[in-house]
Amino acid sequence: MATWNRPARIADCELRTLPADRRRNVLALTGALAAHVAVAGAAADRYHAAVAKLFEEPDPAAPANAPGDGPRVVGVAVAANVWRTFDYQWPDALGEPHVGQRVHVSFGKGKRTRLGFVTDTLRRPGSHPLKPVAETLDAASPFDETLWQLGQWISDYYLSPLGMTLAAMIPSAVGRHRARTETVAYLTSDRADWQNTLGPRQRRVLDELLEARNQGVEPLTVEDLRRAGEASRDTIMRLRQRKLIRLESRPVVLPELSDAAGGDLFDLNADQAAALAALGPRLDEPAFGAVVLHGVTGSGKTEVYVRAIRRVIAAGRQAILLVPEIALATQTLQRLLQRLGRVAVLHSGLTDAQRDFYYRQIRDGHAAVVVGPRSAVFAPTRRLGLIVVDEEHESSYKQDTAPRYHGRDVAVKRAALSGVPIVLGSATPSLESMHNVQTGRYELLTLPRRVRGLPMPALQIVPLRKELTPGRIELIGRTLTRKIAAALDRREQVILLMNRRGYASYVFCPSCDWQLQCEHCTRNMVFHQATQMVLCHYCQQTASLPPHCPACGGKLLLFGLGIQRIAGELARKFPTAAVARVDSDTMSSPGQFRKVFDAFGAGELDILLGTQMVGKGLDFPRVSLVGVISADTSLTIPDFRAAERTFQLVVQVAGRAGRADLPGEVVVQTLHEDEPAIQYAATHDYDGFAGWELPLRADAKLPPFSRMVRFLIRHRQSDRAREGAAAFARALAARLPAGSILWGPSEAGVLKIRGLFRHQVLVVSPRPGSVQKALAGRMEELTRGIHAEVLADVDPMNLI
Ligand code: ADP
Ligand code: ZN
Ligand code: ZN
Repeated sequence: MATWNRPARIADCELRTLPADRRRNVLALTGALAAHVAVAGAAADRYHAAVAKLFEEPDPAAPANAPGDGPRVVGVAVAANVWRTFDYQWPDALGEPHVGQRVHVSFGKGKRTRLGFVTDTLRRPGSHPLKPVAETLDAASPFDETLWQLGQWISDYYLSPLGMTLAAMIPSAVGRHRARTETVAYLTSDRADWQNTLGPRQRRVLDELLEARNQGVEPLTVEDLRRAGEASRDTIMRLRQRKLIRLESRPVVLPELSDAAGGDLFDLNADQAAALAALGPRLDEPAFGAVVLHGVTGSGKTEVYVRAIRRVIAAGRQAILLVPEIALATQTLQRLLQRLGRVAVLHSGLTDAQRDFYYRQIRDGHAAVVVGPRSAVFAPTRRLGLIVVDEEHESSYKQDTAPRYHGRDVAVKRAALSGVPIVLGSATPSLESMHNVQTGRYELLTLPRRVRGLPMPALQIVPLRKELTPGRIELIGRTLTRKIAAALDRREQVILLMNRRGYASYVFCPSCDWQLQCEHCTRNMVFHQATQMVLCHYCQQTASLPPHCPACGGKLLLFGLGIQRIAGELARKFPTAAVARVDSDTMSSPGQFRKVFDAFGAGELDILLGTQMVGKGLDFPRVSLVGVISADTSLTIPDFRAAERTFQLVVQVAGRAGRADLPGEVVVQTLHEDEPAIQYAATHDYDGFAGWELPLRADAKLPPFSRMVRFLIRHRQSDRAREGAAAFARALAARLPAGSILWGPSEAGVLKIRGLFRHQVLVVSPRPGSVQKALAGRMEELTRGIHAEVLADVDPMNLI
């Protein structure tokens, strides 16, 4: 966690004497500096020296750089994996440059231009001729002061190149998509017309359209269709040529910002009221403060968010609510929309035109609330009053491509920069957040009971070893089978969690030990029953199942249990039950989720079988039984957070049971029944778990008691990756601050993914930001001469 000092400001009066352009520049630069100082806690004198430098009189010998006196030169952060900014000539025809403005510039080889951001409008022309900026995308900077500072902070803290970072903060559609019409596609054929000559992409597009028809949402925009079917424009055009689909142009449909906000259905209970009261003053008169709202499952956290947000809106300000992606498809969202007006929901299914529309609505203050996944933390609210992060422990808040930022931590930084409160809600707060509570950085509010005096569900741990019939490939033991039958008899509903995709995770030959591995990754391919294909979960490569062992010709065996096998077992054991499977193979769009959840809510389904997708935020009154098929899938991953993940998963999914008048029951099957994470989950004992796990982390000097930075070094050639990692580790070691520990270089958890060999170097340091501070401005130098790609991942959530 960063330290949350508000960055020092330079007195405004000093700045006013500067020409407007210069002033903006200085503000931006000092913002960057101050943010950096706030992160790194650098010595104040160095900071002041740097600031003083900004006010230095221009050197009279140097050529002045003002419009009219020769070519104007700007600094540009190009959206690419480069660690410095580049100078470009600014053509007068483009008007005045602004810091933050988006531009296209030619960069590297080839004719294509790249996105970039003006970082400096007053660079001095050097002796070399410079390439000109090709065009501007905005008339002014799309960043306000806070977001600009936030971008600099992310770049510094997460060691991610500035241009790439800024690019991630603004949807590419913004400002460029003022189209009034869009092309939509209709299905004009039946499944029977689809010949075998269709490619997999074409088939997927047709499947999506058929699904849309079944869901009553036909036509789909070509843009949506391409995204859902992972298809190119060509694919779509070929389908049209074959007369399987029809295209049509129609006016763009923009989402509505409805004003309707329903009234309160009930009064807050005492715990909720106390939590809201504790937030109170900061909601009316914004001031920074980070609050962890630890409320057990079913304690009514959402209601606290709603009331807090309403107060902020009443005070004329905007609120941002971050939720895990999947929550955007569940009833939580529907309930929120009934209670709050003028909500912009930023989900992955928006078209470019819709995204652009929402962006402007938020920026211009017409949207009062922004709900979205981690990237919504960059929503351009101009009058922010509150940020809420729901399910703050979710590791999906961490982005796993550059910039590798953590949505929750960036939200805390944004709140600090904006001087507004932030609420981090969870039934199982991350140990990072709990540690911040214990060290006094965050405040803790608790909702220790379920609403309406409802009891927590009773949880039973079932040792799988004793429950399974030897010789049978099954994973639903006797106890769980019996309880499912009983719940179905009572016409109640069941949620089952199986956190592993596919049917079987090993295809191997028992006679010669040959195993089917992906040709691009050092991983087993997983057999999927519906398609009868094997799929690599790391690179999505598919292949057909070999008829026999390619090495010895023997018979191949399918081994390892995935969710598809459980679905088969359910169908055998409960042939009349209506079961829906919810995993990323069956659910490829938010619409599909919604359909399943609606059907479950309407009682059309008896059993919801899912991966961790069913473990969050669902609130169905008729669910009386929750079964965890195997608590071991997350326990056995080679990651120091395995116990924490397991505890969270079990507590969260258990919390789906008994949320209304039916008493809830939970069965957890495991091979590790003595594991403390499971034992504490059985009694919903968060404090017990934290009290057990935190000292272990402290002893091992692991986060949250230290900070980790992981460097991944990748190359297509095994040698280059290995040598690159060794060279980088040597260069790095010479630069690391005292007290930090360097682990490696070593092979990454998975040596090869998508054909790239991966090695890693881990740095553990006692203080947040100290490694980044030591490396600030040096990444270019450190990676120079290394013929492999070097990626930094600060506070990594995933160590494979
Ligand atoms: P959590 O997010 O803490 O798991 P929710 O916010 O989903 O819990 O609330 C659980 C249920 O309790 C919801 O159906 C909600 O409408 C209801 N609820 C919330 N607050 C109250 C209250 N004060 N009185 C009665 N019901 C409430
Ligand atoms: Zn064999
Ligand atoms: Zn692969």
